[in-house]
Amino acid sequence: MKTTFVRLSACALAACVFTARAADWYAPQQPFPVYGNTYYVGTGGISAVLITSSAGHILVDAGGPEAADQVVAHIRKLGFRVEDIRYILNSHAHQDHAGAIAALQKLSGATVLASAASVRLLESGQPDRADPQYPNLTPIAPVAKTRAVRDGETIHLGPLAVTAHFTPGHTRGGTSWTWQAEEGGRTVNVVFADSLFAVAAEGRRFSGNPLYPQAQADIEGAIATIEALPCDVLVAAHPELGGLWERKARQAALGDAAFIDTGACRSYAAKGRTFLAETLAAEAKS
Ligand SMILES: [Zn+2]
Repeated sequence: MKTTFVRLSACALAACVFTARAADWYAPQQPFPVYGNTYYVGTGGISAVLITSSAGHILVDAGGPEAADQVVAHIRKLGFRVEDIRYILNSHAHQDHAGAIAALQKLSGATVLASAASVRLLESGQPDRADPQYPNLTPIAPVAKTRAVRDGETIHLGPLAVTAHFTPGHTRGGTSWTWQAEEGGRTVNVVFADSLFAVAAEGRRFSGNPLYPQAQADIEGAIATIEALPCDVLVAAHPELGGLWERKARQAALGDAAFIDTGACRSYAAKGRTFLAETLAAEAKS
């Protein structure tokens, strides 16, 4: 019984949140401008962001396997061409964020950029056996035309410059992406933050996992990385976990300035830290 209670308590903070959310991966969501050339084109449950320029566009994540049609429709509704996407970036290679990348890549011909650890998974379509969530992960359509990026590498496309920040822990290849957006003479730092949540599948451990022994150290590092980033506008891979909808609700009154919250990344990092502490406490008792 004690184990059951421990699992329930960990579940309340971790797995259940994710399980409950899984049903909403494809919740309808109209696309909308976030700031300057940065647009939200994801679903109600999973973020995808389009960064536009006259030299072509960059798409960050594409949603779950069935999200491609929604994301494509969103891009077109905003008046942009999917065929003008030159790069697709990935936060992490779980099915909810990477499942539609193969379809978007085929339609656009874009090059898909991710960490080397993620690129291996994207190319094979198979989940990582060392992933703490492995038993819950499903294969995705294998992705063509990939290229691995280095930590700190900046991707250039015409006037666009997007920088990779490795944020492993939730997965071994997790990556967050940053760029600047300008609107009305004001330039802001935008962060697309990867998941910072120490989730393990039932029967698996996040800490002391022999297949991924550095998971805890990695996620502590990732949390510190996000906490320290220059961050005015945050979009988290799961939009609600970064507070996107609360800010979106103020957009009608405040315009795109509604999305500026210089404490957003620190709050998001704090959530990840609390989540990790709960996971470790539960695992220490089990
Ligand atoms: Zn994930």
